[in-house]
Order: sequence, then structure tokens, then C-alpha cells
Amino acid sequence: MTSQTDSYQDIRDGIRALCAQFPAEYHRKIDEARSYPEEFVDALTREGWMAALIPEDYGGSGLGLTEASVIMEEINRAGGNSGACHGQMYNMNTLVRHGSEEQRLKYLPKIASGELRLQSMGVTEPTTGTDTTRIKTTAVKKGDRYVVNGQKVWISRVQHSDLMILLARTTPLADVQKKSEGLSIFLVDIRQAMKSGMEVRPILNMVNHETNELFFDNLEIPEENLIGEEGKGFKYILTGLNAERTLIAAECIGDGYWFTDKVTDYVREREVFGRPIGQNQGVQFPIAEAYIEIEAANLMRYKACSLFDAGAPCGAEANMAKYLAAKASWEAANACIQFHGGFGFACEYDVERKFRETRLYQVAPISTNLILSYVAEHVLGLPRSF
Ligand SMILES: Cc1cc2nc3c(=O)[nH]c(=O)nc-3n(C[C@H](O)[C@H](O)[C@H](O)COP(=O)(O)OP(=O)(O)OC[C@H]3O[C@@H](n4cnc5c(N)ncnc54)[C@H](O)[C@@H]3O)c2cc1C
Repeated sequence: MTSQTDSYQDIRDGIRALCAQFPAEYHRKIDEARSYPEEFVDALTREGWMAALIPEDYGGSGLGLTEASVIMEEINRAGGNSGACHGQMYNMNTLVRHGSEEQRLKYLPKIASGELRLQSMGVTEPTTGTDTTRIKTTAVKKGDRYVVNGQKVWISRVQHSDLMILLARTTPLADVQKKSEGLSIFLVDIRQAMKSGMEVRPILNMVNHETNELFFDNLEIPEENLIGEEGKGFKYILTGLNAERTLIAAECIGDGYWFTDKVTDYVREREVFGRPIGQNQGVQFPIAEAYIEIEAANLMRYKACSLFDAGAPCGAEANMAKYLAAKASWEAANACIQFHGGFGFACEYDVERKFRETRLYQVAPISTNLILSYVAEHVLGLPRSF
């Protein structure tokens, strides 16, 4: 079964060739061992895929979010999980679009060569959750440094990244006109921070996703690590969040195709009551329905990507793409596990692993409810509920 044809066949072929060296069995073993796919991420970096969004002048390939999304989609479609490395893609845009020339020259060539990884973004906090503008982590300017205190939760890939983009409040909420003002973003040198005020506590979780609690106790960040203007960080972080939602939509689409391919192959072969189970319409319809929804989500994903690449507002499309794709991949996952019968629960089929992995995207990086609320308020103009 194939998805729509598009003009990214070279990228698809390249990623498929690389992923063929890291089959589903590789990712299964990584999942079982709860380890990190170092060799896979190294291979992606060596071949330049992790530098897709870095402009050519800084050593990258200067591609857009559309191409980056195809890379992520293909990884998931091949049975892998882009969650191990997608941070580098969406964080890159924040640095490329809002970083100073000095910051770009200092970091981008090293990220492109693989010397440095920019895989982490620290936004979520335990006491404020999705209510991002109320975060309590503060960064207070003292001379040529900012001093950071507070706590973050669910911050991913910190143990496998050199750099992190951190959101903190630089002006107290009580002193700003709009709650989205007074927030700033910083580039944090993770190794340095772990020696001087940042504690990292891993969170064991349902998927093999390296994610952590972070505690900041007077962590000092040099002022030159502020990205963009002080107080405008929320606007900058939204660029990264829109890119993240769109890329994750593409990953869900990759998952969706993986599930529908896997289950159609299985139900064609599996015979019960003297005929293939795929001959029953009760089996066919949920698979067909999931496939239709994946194809539809794919259109919204390309729309969000093209708006993003044109520098146009894309909040609604990025959110809707993520909503549709996460829902479609989840329906495909349910059909896939259901029609594998008992075998869907056996690790060697990879279905239960992919089922767990794709379930995450109903909650993170933004929950389905919050997307519905965004569309109701910002697209349909209904009264604000919070
Ligand atoms: C594996 C994993 C990796 C993550 N990685 C990162 C990361 O790298 N960086 C980072 O910053 N964050 C990360 N996150 C955090 C993620 O973005 C949040 O978990 C997500 O945004 C939901 O926030 P919350 O968990 O605080 O849920 P809450 O805000 O507490 O919400 C809980 C649930 O309540 C519902 N809800 C809340 N408010 C409303 C409302 N007003 N109306 C209707 N329903 C509502 C939603 O259904 C939501 O799912 C990660 C999370 C996970 C699980």
C-alpha cells in the first residue's frame, strides 16, 4: 500500500535506504533495553539528515519543514520512532529564525557536523502544565548573566543532547500587560549546567522516551545565550511549537501507514473459519476507515508545512494537522492490534511497541482537548474558556 505520490521521492529513497540498516528488530531491542538508538541517530547525522533545516551557509542542507517532515515520516513508517531525534528539527528553526548572527555562526556549523546536538526544549512545568504563560521558572538578570531558578518536567533527550532551549519568565506576571509578555528563551549548555545548578532526574515512562524532571538552583546563563529580545520568548517558542506539531503530524502519518501496511499484510494471510480474516467486511472497514483518515490528515500536514516554509501564520493548520494525524494513527493502531488477535501483544510483531509510541501523541506535545479549544477560540471566534 502506498501513500500519495509527492515530489520528495529522493528524500524518501535516502531515508528508506538508511532505515533498512536499522530494521524494526533494532528498534525493538532498543525499546526492550530502554536504551537510546545512538547508532541510528549517529547514522542520520553522518548522512546530513539531522542538519536538514540548517541553512547551507552554516553547513546544513537548507531544506524546509516540508522536507524535514518527510524525513520524520519515513523513520516512523520504517518501524522506527523519530521521538529519539525530532527535537533537533523543531528546535533548529527557533535558533535559525530568532538567534543572532553570532549565535548562528557559533552553533549551527557544529550542529550540522554532529559535534553538538540541539535536541531539547524545556517548556512544561509540573504545577502549570499546559498553561504555559504561567510558568514559574524565573531568569533574573544579574550583571552579564541570568540566574535561573525553578523546575521543569517531561523535558526530553536531555541526556543525549548538548544544548537545550529553555523558556523562563524574565518579568514577573504581575508586571506585564499581557500574560504572554515577559517570557524569554535561552540556549543552555547542558553539560555545563549539570555541573552548576541544573539537576536532571529521569522519568521512567510507558514508551522508551528519554524524558526528565529538571531542577534549577541558581543556574547561571551568560547573557549572550539569550535568544532574540528579552520578554519576547513566548512568540519565539511558538515558532518551535508549530514546527513540532507539524513534524509530529508527519510522524503519526508514518505510523499510520506502518499500521495499515502491517495489518493488511496480516489479514490477507491469516486464515480462520477456512478463509482469510481480511475477507470479512467487519475486518476491512476499520482498516479502510483509518487509511482514509491518514490520507486526509496528510493533506493538512502539507498545508501546514507550506505555510510554515513561506513564513506565513500556520498555528491553526499545525494544530489541525497534529489533531487529525494523531487521531488517524491511533485508529490505525487500534485496527492493527485488534486484527492481529493475540499476536498483536507479542513484542516480536512490533505492533504493541508502535501502539504505545503513537498513543503518546494524543497527549504530547499538546493534548487533543487543547487543540479543540484553540480551534474553537482562535479559528471560530468562540468565547475564551480560560
Ligand atoms: C513522553 C513525553 C515527552 C515530553 N517531552 C517534552 C519536552 O521535551 N519538552 C516539554 O516542554 N514538554 C514535554 N512534554 C510535556 C507535554 O507537552 C505535556 O505533557 C502536554 O503538553 C500536556 O501537559 P500536562 O502533562 O501538564 O497536562 P495538563 O495541562 O495537566 O492537562 C492534562 C489533561 O487535561 C486536559 N485539559 C487541561 N486543560 C484543559 C482545558 N482547559 N480544557 C479541556 N481539557 C483540558 C487535557 O486533556 C490534558 O491532556 C512531554 C510529555 C511526555 C508525556
